[in-house]
Amino acid sequence: MIKPRFYIVLALLTALFFVSCKDPNEYRVDAEFTDYLNRFVQEGASRGHTFDLKGNGLIIEFAKLKNNNAGLTHYEDPIRIEIDKAYWTAIGKTAGADMMKEDLLFHELGHGLLKREHLNSTLENGDWKSIMCGGDKVNGRAWNINYKGIRRNYYVDELFNESTPAPDFSSNMFLADSTGFKKALALDFNTVQTAGWTLGEDANHKISIETANGNGRLRFQSKVTDTYLVFVKTNIDVLSDFSYELNLEYNSTDLTGQYGVIFGHHVEGTSGSNEPIEYFTINNNKNMYMGNRTWYSFFTELYEPQVLPGGKNTLKVFKIGTMIYYFINNVYSYCSEMETSVSGVYFGFLVPSNGVVLLDNLLICQKPASGVSAKIKQNQQLEFDVTTIKSLNQGIILNK
Ligand SMILES: [Zn+2]
Repeated sequence: MIKPRFYIVLALLTALFFVSCKDPNEYRVDAEFTDYLNRFVQEGASRGHTFDLKGNGLIIEFAKLKNNNAGLTHYEDPIRIEIDKAYWTAIGKTAGADMMKEDLLFHELGHGLLKREHLNSTLENGDWKSIMCGGDKVNGRAWNINYKGIRRNYYVDELFNESTPAPDFSSNMFLADSTGFKKALALDFNTVQTAGWTLGEDANHKISIETANGNGRLRFQSKVTDTYLVFVKTNIDVLSDFSYELNLEYNSTDLTGQYGVIFGHHVEGTSGSNEPIEYFTINNNKNMYMGNRTWYSFFTELYEPQVLPGGKNTLKVFKIGTMIYYFINNVYSYCSEMETSVSGVYFGFLVPSNGVVLLDNLLICQKPASGVSAKIKQNQQLEFDVTTIKSLNQGIILNK
């Protein structure tokens, strides 16, 4: 027990120690973060929030964080934010880095300057409701937040005002105009002639036709641990409006292996690494993923009850204008901007590590530009390519 007089002396000494060692109004922000801090201040100002950062003090610094943390906010005087240097460097090397960095800084500033806590609820379409998602995991869901494009303004609104109404993009109603699409390429895999891909086997994979009850399906067997990207070269540019659908079955007890469709720019014979290829995948855990290979990771992870684990799943996308609309088994599931901005005429599918995938009814349709009649090239010569990639998504999003 400490005597009162001694206690007072100790308290005074302690106070003196802190006054002399630490300035409660210290302002020290690493130059890497000033642009994002300025954006935060500007976005706040346009929403009626003002901050006296230099007066009140603020520290934002790099650190080496543990436990898969990307950022940490300490409620000290002044507020001190730590950003993991390795993570910052890693996301900085990929497409979408700017929005990922902004997301991370805005989240920490949400804690530090707006005193917001974590909020892990979701919107109707499954998107995280808030940029403040983080902390304790929810059903093991990845922290990836689709923070870009039409979503950014909503997330910034929500950051400064938690009662921001649900945005249009989060509706489960499909309202885009999907009429007028005409068949451009179809493969039913019923015969060797309509199989498209060359049948055969090598050390890494085997392509064959499997027929049951008169219906043929293309069977792709991977013998490698890498992920297979399997392409067909078409005359359909992904920059145009199109729809692409494919029925896939991955009858396996593997719950995490992703299978699905791909489209975009590909250079034949290359590894497919970091090419601007869009992907849309599911797994047998009823998760859905979407993204672009040039990005650090998938845009977000969703739970979609309409997925049939191990069954025949039809994945379909409509690309209309800047947006991609995703469907699973005819249920509209999600929409997001297409990130590929370069021409690409490759469509295909994706096979998980050592997986066997059965394909049926590949169909690509196009919306002809007005005045141009759609001509279906019935017997066009198609070229095919297969390639493997080390991992579909290059990085793991850390907690914040
Ligand atoms: Zn947080």
